[in-house]
Amino acid sequence: MDGLLIVMSGFSGAGKGTLMKRLMADYDDFAFSVSMTTRAPRQGEVDGKDYFFVTKEEFEKAIEEDGFVEYAQYVGNYYGTPKAYVFEQLKKGKNVILDIEVQGAMQIKEKFPDALMLFVIPPSIEVLLKRLRARGTESEEVIMRRITQAKTECTYMDRYEYIVINDDLDTAVKEMYAMVQSAKFTVSRRREFIDTVIDELKSI
Ligand code: 5GP
Repeated sequence: MDGLLIVMSGFSGAGKGTLMKRLMADYDDFAFSVSMTTRAPRQGEVDGKDYFFVTKEEFEKAIEEDGFVEYAQYVGNYYGTPKAYVFEQLKKGKNVILDIEVQGAMQIKEKFPDALMLFVIPPSIEVLLKRLRARGTESEEVIMRRITQAKTECTYMDRYEYIVINDDLDTAVKEMYAMVQSAKFTVSRRREFIDTVIDELKSI
């Protein structure tokens, strides 16, 4: 059985990266899709692990070659999900996690209606600001642009299936795993199986 495609969106600073890393460490049936971006690496980020860091020209060439499952612009930079890895891992039965913002998430929802849509939020906006400032990697101006972005993003929350509140990390990871497990058993995601049963019934 193919794995589940999982979209994880959420405010910048909500802790998506940490959640995803813990999920991968605790369970072995997940794969993380490394995105391509034109933004500069932050301190400690590794090319090919956190992102594939490319120039604008390289990114636009990949768009022309139809190399993305989705892509979008966010705070002045391109971000996109390379195609090959996603399909390869899904075929292997892995649940593939895409850590992407809302515009890209809506493209995925349109193209892959069975994708599981998760939205991660911090327990409060106060905590969000603290986390963004504690990173110490971005100027106050960039932080404010990310907050403005969050105001837009929260209008998309209703288009998601589950909300992950990232307060205590252990709890959030367990809850997220439970969401993924339960999603596999919904009627729409078991469509193929149900159709076989219906066909069998009809043939009697
Ligand atoms: P950051 O610059 O903080 O790493 O990421 C900024 C935003 O871009 C985050 O909301 C992140 O989820 C999103 N993002 C990362 N990779 C992709 C991608 O491949 N496609 C889209 N649409 N968004 C992405």
